[in-house]
Amino acid sequence: MAARLLTGVRRLSTSAPAKHGFAPSMKIFRDVPPLRGYRRHLLRESRSVGLVPTMGALHEGHLSLVRQAAHENTDVFVSIYVNPTQFGVSEDFGSYPKTWDADLKKLEVVDRELASTGGAGRISAVFTPTTTVMYPTLPPTSEVDGKGSFVIITPLGEMLEGASRPVFFRGVATVCMKLFNIVTPERVYFGQKDVQQTVLIRRMVKDFHLDTEVRIGPTKREEDGLALSSRNIYLGTRRRAVATILSQSLLRAEEQFKKGKRSRADILWPANDLALQTAMHQEELPPSQRARFEVDYISLADPDTLEEVDAVDERKGAVLSGAIKMQPLEDPQHGEDRGIGGGETAVRLIDNIILHPTTT
Ligand code: AMP
Repeated sequence: MAARLLTGVRRLSTSAPAKHGFAPSMKIFRDVPPLRGYRRHLLRESRSVGLVPTMGALHEGHLSLVRQAAHENTDVFVSIYVNPTQFGVSEDFGSYPKTWDADLKKLEVVDRELASTGGAGRISAVFTPTTTVMYPTLPPTSEVDGKGSFVIITPLGEMLEGASRPVFFRGVATVCMKLFNIVTPERVYFGQKDVQQTVLIRRMVKDFHLDTEVRIGPTKREEDGLALSSRNIYLGTRRRAVATILSQSLLRAEEQFKKGKRSRADILWPANDLALQTAMHQEELPPSQRARFEVDYISLADPDTLEEVDAVDERKGAVLSGAIKMQPLEDPQHGEDRGIGGGETAVRLIDNIILHPTTT
């Protein structure tokens, strides 16, 4: 039976089994039927599956979700799929980092760590489907009015990020629905870093009665506060230094909340002010030194609807979130680390802080 189950499945073989009984347990699936067969096998054994959907280019943010999933399930499935329908026509789908070998190695290291700690689940499957598998009928479209089978969650998907990226959440909801249907996980894991995504997925699970539990892991950051992101590799040194303005601005706003301020104006002005001052300072520098950016939004919103609020309701708390666009380098210097892509493309960064309820 086991041999039949493994038909069409590649076992990870990037390292030799280690001394302390470690053998890589990850199986790599590219198609749905073998994965379903394996999933049925786990079900019969009463094992639980936690799914971590990713687009690869894995970093500590992704890996922290994998660890969390392993502590709450016997088996972790990680999907790695750069989903074309969530990229707009002029976005970076073509150049999105693809680091398959490095990703697998990172997962193997985490799996080894999980095996050595004991008591935790293991990474048992990596699902890396082709686009024909994920979109079996029509070629996927990035056009706003493109045809296809989509999951659309409105108005949530039209706000904040959705206002700047009109097809983004349609693509996210659609690919997550497909993944949830394929894997049928007991639990799904998403990062707080993409707060609107977490709200949207919770809503989708609720409204479509999906039989899975949505679990959210905290945002992982660099020491200076920059939220980890697969896109940070595009920044290069100069833009990377200025990119911390987003987390710093949000922290300023959070400080106001911690001081007892509740009105929108009181909470947001220091964030807007810091962003404005920093943008003006960059404007004053010569093109050879500056890293310009635009603030797309700094938002104070209801945690369930993401509607903007005039004041924080102490029983609900609120979501402070922001997005900035680091502009391309204007005058790159010889020998300067410009990041992947030579500093020629704009890099959009998002971040958020949850303002937790202060009364029940
Ligand atoms: P992505 O590969 O960018 O689609 O992200 C896959 C998952 O990792 C999503 O649930 C993200 O929210 C999560 N994630 C990305 N960056 C971070 C981070 N810095 N901390 C925690 N989770 C993250």
